[in-house]
Amino acid sequence: MKLHVVALCTIALGLGGSMASPLALAQAPADGVILEKNIPIKVTEVAPGLFFQYHHQESNNAFLVTDEGVLVIDTRQHPRRAEELLATIRKYTDKPIKWVVNTHAHGDHYFGNIVFKREGATFIAHRDTAGMMKAHLDVEMKRRQGYFKQRQYDPAEVKLVMPDVTFDSKATITLGGRTIELLYMGPGQNPGDTLVYFPKERVIFTGGPFSKNSWPNPSFTPSMSNWVALLRKIAAMDVDTYLGGHGDIGNKEDVLHEAQMLSDFDAGMREAVAKGMSKDDIVKNVKFEKYKDVRNYYRMNLFIGSYYHFLTTGRPQNAYP
Ligand SMILES: [Zn+2]
Repeated sequence: MKLHVVALCTIALGLGGSMASPLALAQAPADGVILEKNIPIKVTEVAPGLFFQYHHQESNNAFLVTDEGVLVIDTRQHPRRAEELLATIRKYTDKPIKWVVNTHAHGDHYFGNIVFKREGATFIAHRDTAGMMKAHLDVEMKRRQGYFKQRQYDPAEVKLVMPDVTFDSKATITLGGRTIELLYMGPGQNPGDTLVYFPKERVIFTGGPFSKNSWPNPSFTPSMSNWVALLRKIAAMDVDTYLGGHGDIGNKEDVLHEAQMLSDFDAGMREAVAKGMSKDDIVKNVKFEKYKDVRNYYRMNLFIGSYYHFLTTGRPQNAYP
């Protein structure tokens, strides 16, 4: 396997949007508590040897099986879940796990790292993802206690496994004759958001910035306008299959839908703040009705609270650095 790192220019900024309509919202449950219907975990071979694992309640993964070994994208929310992912991979191959990519530093995407470390994988992530894994570990552990408790998972089993390799703008991995490009186009949901691009297969794993039909947590983004622009740029890529960190397999239309949803959320929130509404006023009186059927909508009061923090202080609620 080979790895080389090259420079990549940053994207242009842009923001469009329309106004949201004000309506009342239901109370959201505590963070980490799962209230969604039970959709079974599904594994799909989206290109020869490239598998996508969709888990509606939690987080998604992908893995590429080659003659030389396996590359895994993200490691789930707890080592127990990572063991299940490894068992799934073993249904398809007994080749060694060579690489793990951590797309972003949210616990539901890297808390299973220790299992793949044991398997001898080399870990790679963006420099800012590596920084956030350290800086936000306590925040990430705290906001997942409800999940651990609900599943009776021992939080002490989660160990911080840092990347062995970091990159700044682009890294290319070749494994078993396959090419995997790790792209950084500036922050989307998070500083360090990594896109894992399979150019020949016309597939991209989008980690934090895109999840099909799913409200993302906006408490980490340093730039909503960059996030929206990033989604529009991803939608314009030479890609047919979009694999989100959450939600099912998407297409270009799904990516553009999220761009519009975030743009509408941003515009609606800015309008409410400009009118002098308090955070509580907005939670009680503003809702984004057009998007009420999107996954995670029940957490809207948390999203409004964190984005209100951003708009009134100029800093993300979960800022990095
Ligand atoms: Zn996530």
